[in-house]
Amino acid sequence: MLANLKEKVWKANLELPKRNLVSLSFGNVSGFDPGRRLVAIKPSGVPYEKLKPQDIVLVDLEGRIVEGRLMPSTDTPTHIEIYRAFQGVGGICHAHSEFATIFAQARKPIPCLGTTHADQFNGPVPVTRQLTPTEVRGDYERNTGKIIAKRFSRIEPLHIPAVLVAGHGPFTWGKDPDEAVGTALILEQVARMAMGTLFLNRRQEALPTYILRRHHERKHGPGAYYGQKKEKEND
Ligand SMILES: [Zn+2]
Repeated sequence: MLANLKEKVWKANLELPKRNLVSLSFGNVSGFDPGRRLVAIKPSGVPYEKLKPQDIVLVDLEGRIVEGRLMPSTDTPTHIEIYRAFQGVGGICHAHSEFATIFAQARKPIPCLGTTHADQFNGPVPVTRQLTPTEVRGDYERNTGKIIAKRFSRIEPLHIPAVLVAGHGPFTWGKDPDEAVGTALILEQVARMAMGTLFLNRRQEALPTYILRRHHERKHGPGAYYGQKKEKEND
């Protein structure tokens, strides 16, 4: 079971350079086993081409290494805070992908300007507040996770599975590591399209709410009908 999770996390990490979401050894993907309350995460500073499934580090929700001979990613406490705060999240991805990071650096949320965005995110992708000097001098990575959780105090994290950390970059999440990476990819695409749209029309209004909701709900709502119908269990 945990070997399976480590394998999944390893594979999802390899998608980051493949999909041009990261350079060098930047970025990290983790997965969460809710039964055992353990996080599997990329080790710190290992180049992607050298990364092996057995290098993936297992930590508990206190950040203690449970299995692995390498140090976990320096962003591990941020991932842990997100797993602690958001129910149902089984994978997290962090990358400094270019266009999403541009919005994070501008401290601007990504507005929902079209249905590509609405299919994935049920509203603008929020940006956190800036960390205070005390928060940065203290437990910086854990505090990053805490301001993310705080930003979602009135947002359902599974309906908007991404955040921009002010002056830093995006974190995305999903039911598993694969989904978190897929969301990072779509986030990058919608950030790029939003920037292009705002370039053509600086005053472009957001997509009307009735179109946004319709698009989001046909994929994610209780009556979702996008894609192929699932076969009945007994069929
Ligand atoms: Zn980062």
